[in-house]
Amino acid sequence: MLENQQSVDAYKEAVDLMPGGVNSPVRAFKSVGMNPIFMESGKGSKIYDIDGNKYIDYVLSWGPLILGHADERVVSKLKSVAERGTSFGAPTLLENELAQLVIDRVPSIEMVRMVNSGTEATMSALRLARGYTGKNKILKFEGNYHGHGDSLLIKAGSGVATLGLPDSPGVPKSVAQHTITVPYNDIESVRYAFEQFGEDIAAVIVEPVSGNMGVVPPTEDFLVSLREITASSGSLLIFDEVMTGFRVGYNCAQGHFGVTPDLTCLGKVIGGGLPVGAYGGKREIMERVAPVGDIYQAGTLSGNPLAMTAGLETLKAMDESAYEGINQKVDRLIEGYRLAADKHGVPLQINRAGSMVGVFFAKEPVVNYETASSSDTEAFATYYRTMAEEGIFLPPSQFEGLFMSTAHTDADIEKTIAAAEKAFAKIAK
Ligand code: PMP
Repeated sequence: MLENQQSVDAYKEAVDLMPGGVNSPVRAFKSVGMNPIFMESGKGSKIYDIDGNKYIDYVLSWGPLILGHADERVVSKLKSVAERGTSFGAPTLLENELAQLVIDRVPSIEMVRMVNSGTEATMSALRLARGYTGKNKILKFEGNYHGHGDSLLIKAGSGVATLGLPDSPGVPKSVAQHTITVPYNDIESVRYAFEQFGEDIAAVIVEPVSGNMGVVPPTEDFLVSLREITASSGSLLIFDEVMTGFRVGYNCAQGHFGVTPDLTCLGKVIGGGLPVGAYGGKREIMERVAPVGDIYQAGTLSGNPLAMTAGLETLKAMDESAYEGINQKVDRLIEGYRLAADKHGVPLQINRAGSMVGVFFAKEPVVNYETASSSDTEAFATYYRTMAEEGIFLPPSQFEGLFMSTAHTDADIEKTIAAAEKAFAKIAK
């Protein structure tokens, strides 16, 4: 059993102070029936809780920390930048530098606007798509999560799926009626929706690899077909690369799959662990954003020097060989998991895109929200608790993927595989 009395006490205090004791729902660990673990510090691939337990971390702050915790390059730059002032509300050279880097590396982005979170990025991209096309409706996919903007909180994934709250109260019907939701990887449903509502669809927004119903990659031709359908209907294609951006590869998912959207949303890795989001795309569309254009969007702390620095140092460190290195570690982890699951006869589906990995306790391939939901959540909870006891920190939900960093070592991976084997042995009983 995990010794975590201090976390238990801290949580008792927290539930009186914050809804569910947390500032973001999945941190409450509800679906795995555990007390939340309060963290104290992190270095490289390891994190330490307030009881002094040490874990190999595959949550990595839900994706951003692709270099692991407290990377020396990032931290030392942050210190020197912080000493010169944390925010000016006026432009800095750091913003030009990060914008240039993003434009160089993301095929669809000719101009970019920095914001403070993935949610802001997607909300702003939708407003822009609606303003630019003059249309109202949005098409999204079941189990995709695009942050908590009203239009996007319909049949969403991530914590919404974990907690079983697919359509949130507080979203007016008049807003929800403009969101059309169809199954992921189901291009026939997309065609049907366009037949019915095509005239009024401003944009299709999609996670090019879904990471919020566990990890579900696109089937062959899915993204290409979305590109064709939107282009021929006068709708915009928006890739929500908040999770996949600079995670699945050097040029993001769009570079990896060779499909170029009109707009792209970024978050997580682009901020290297500080609050950053971004949206960008074709110059002609981005020039509709204020102050050059008439579509409004703003932010007091947007592009602040600390956030830009963490993003810049992280992205500079992630050259092509860094991605190769991470991917090899993922190869080894998956191979180990497969062998261990086979040994104990545990049905396991592993989906993967770059260093995003989805582990499902399911017999059939997981290709959409329906198949993801059919996986055995009890087996997942047993796996989760065993892994935590063995010092492996994973996202506490079947509907979230795990991440690898450049800081993970071969020894970390072997230890993780050995722990998974113990978990599979328990599940098999
Ligand atoms: N889009 C995707 C694909 C995400 O995974 C997330 C967060 N997990 C968001 C948007 C929202 O980002 P944030 O939590 O930074 O608002």
